[in-house]
Amino acid sequence: RTQGTLDHHDILAVEKEFRLPVGPFTVLGYIDRVDRVDDETVEVLDYKTNRLLFTRDEVDSSLQMSLYHLAARQLWPWAKKVKLTFLMLRHGLRMTTERSPEQLEAAMRYVETVGRMTEEATEFPPRLNSNCVWCDHRSKCPAYAEALKGKRDFVCENTDDLPAVAREREEVARLVKILSDRKAELEGVLKTHLQEHDELVLAGTRYRMFNTAKTEYPLEPTVETIEKATGMERASLVARLAAVDKKALDALLKELAGRLDKPKLMLLKAELEAAATISYSPRFWAKAV
Ligand code: SF4
Repeated sequence: RTQGTLDHHDILAVEKEFRLPVGPFTVLGYIDRVDRVDDETVEVLDYKTNRLLFTRDEVDSSLQMSLYHLAARQLWPWAKKVKLTFLMLRHGLRMTTERSPEQLEAAMRYVETVGRMTEEATEFPPRLNSNCVWCDHRSKCPAYAEALKGKRDFVCENTDDLPAVAREREEVARLVKILSDRKAELEGVLKTHLQEHDELVLAGTRYRMFNTAKTEYPLEPTVETIEKATGMERASLVARLAAVDKKALDALLKELAGRLDKPKLMLLKAELEAAATISYSPRFWAKAV
C-alpha cells in the first residue's frame, strides 16, 4: 500500500551496482531500487528493516544517500533531480530527502579524505567490534586476546557522570559480545563431542545434550475442537488465535524469489510489511557516532 500503484516500467533498476569515482578512489555500492518519477526526476529507494525510525537529521545528513545521489546522477545523466527515500518497512513509512550541491561536494571530500587517511596510515590499532568473532586475524590480535580474558580498561566510579557511564557501558557491551560469541564457539566444540558420548565430565563440570519440548497447535483442528466444545464463532476464533508464522512466511518468500522477478518480489514484500500488524515496545539502542 505504501508503494501506491507503481507501474513496473517505472522501475529503472533493482539492486543496481555502481562504481563512483572519488578523486583517485572508486566507491563500489549497490542501490536497492531506482524509480523514474518523471522526465527529469529519479527516486532512489533504500529498504530498511530498522526497528527505530531515523531522525530527520540522520536522513538529511546520511552519507549513504549522498553517495546514492551521486551514483544516480552518473547512471541516469538525464535526471536533473534525485529524490532519496528510505522505505522503513517495519513502519510502512517513507522518509524522503534531497541533497544540495554543497552537501554532495562535502560528501566527496569526506570520502576522499577517509581514503587518503586509510592509504597513508602506517598503524591500524585493533578496535574490538561486533565482527571480531569472524576475523581471520583474531588468533594474533592482542586486543582480542585481552578481551577473551575479560580484561577491562575502565570502570565508572560515579554513575552521576553520564559520559563515564556510557564509556563503561560500551566497553562492557563489546566484551559481552566477544565473550558470548566465544561461549557459543566453545559449546560448538563440546556439542560435537557429545554426538559420540552421552555425557562429558571435564574440569569439574558435567555436559549433556537433552531434548526440549515445543508444543504447536495446528490451526484447523484446534479451531474446530474449540468451536465444537464452546459454540464460539469460527471467525472470531481465527481472528483471536491465528497469526502467520514469520519464519514460514520468510521461507515462502525465499522460495518465491526463484519464481517472481525482483521488482514483483520487492513489491510483494513491501505490501506484506504494510499489511502486518506491528507492535512496539521500548528497547534500548546504542550506536557509535
Ligand atoms: S579480532 Fe582484532 S583485528 Fe580482528 S576485528 Fe577484532 S580487533 Fe580487529
